[in-house]
Amino acid sequence: MNKETLARKLSSGDCLPLFQMADAVRLRYCGNGVHLRAIVEFSNYCSKNCLYCGLRRDNKKIKRYRMSPAEIFGAARQAAQAGIKTVVLQSGEEKAGLGELFPLIGRIKKELGCAVTLSLGEKTAAEYRALKDAGADRYLLKFETSDEKLFRACKPDSDYSARFDCIETLVSLGFQTGTGNIVGLPGQTVRSLAGDILRLKELAPDMISVTPFISNPDTPFAGTPCGDLEMTLRVLALSRIETPDAHMPATTAIRTLHKEGAGKALACGANVIMPNFTPILYRPHYSIYPGKESIIGDPSVSIRDILKMLEKMGRKVAPGYGHGRRHHTDSPL
Ligand code: SF4
Repeated sequence: MNKETLARKLSSGDCLPLFQMADAVRLRYCGNGVHLRAIVEFSNYCSKNCLYCGLRRDNKKIKRYRMSPAEIFGAARQAAQAGIKTVVLQSGEEKAGLGELFPLIGRIKKELGCAVTLSLGEKTAAEYRALKDAGADRYLLKFETSDEKLFRACKPDSDYSARFDCIETLVSLGFQTGTGNIVGLPGQTVRSLAGDILRLKELAPDMISVTPFISNPDTPFAGTPCGDLEMTLRVLALSRIETPDAHMPATTAIRTLHKEGAGKALACGANVIMPNFTPILYRPHYSIYPGKESIIGDPSVSIRDILKMLEKMGRKVAPGYGHGRRHHTDSPL
């Protein structure tokens, strides 16, 4: 589809046939299984100042934390004991060294048998290489918006080209690479979103994350309207149709925006859910946006709820590691 067609499908027409088509594409390319990835938000320190995000460095209202390696490993072990085969280690974009992470990545892989995904923001090529050498399998770095003017307005201390250079570096180093966008940023247009979908198609990443913007009162975007659920699902569905073999999560932000958001996302292209294994003590402080769906959920309870929902939908938890579909293996890499 070209930009005009995508913009038209985003802004008008019955969404049901679009969602049904995306669901059929998901079934054909990714099967019926839903991959579970355990997320551990191990630090909320961030050196950047994105206008939409509660972790921004100028937000003095949040209590900063960084989990110790033992705490991170404990959370990963809890995920492995729950049968989850991927641990996602996520933090703000810290300037601090990555030293403690290197042995931890190896331990999670060797001792727990889990694949490791990282989401740590922009790093140098040498740092990415060191993380890959330490054993990390995957890396998530969303471009957030492909609209350069909007990018500069929302991420004043990031460089648009450098962001895409980072994504290219990750791919060239052999990471299974994930990227994606935010839907509903103040000032975003339907054509911007159509551009995001085209950029995703061009990048052909292993994973795509489409999240709605949720306004955070402790940021410069306080009081602006949140992203629209239906628009988020339209972007998700069109991204699935245009990039059929990517893994796509029903994100926590979609689940936060609507209590049935996970089921709705799974019905229009998503095939991944990321239960939160961050210790409950720290969760309220990883406040990118308020009201996060997983803030109080015990992981075992949320997994039980996920299983119930999947059963109702005739879906099941996918076996194996759920590597990118172009990485033909089913063992930790
Ligand atoms: S979006 Fe990422 S880089 Fe920007 S402030 Fe939030 S955590 Fe930091």
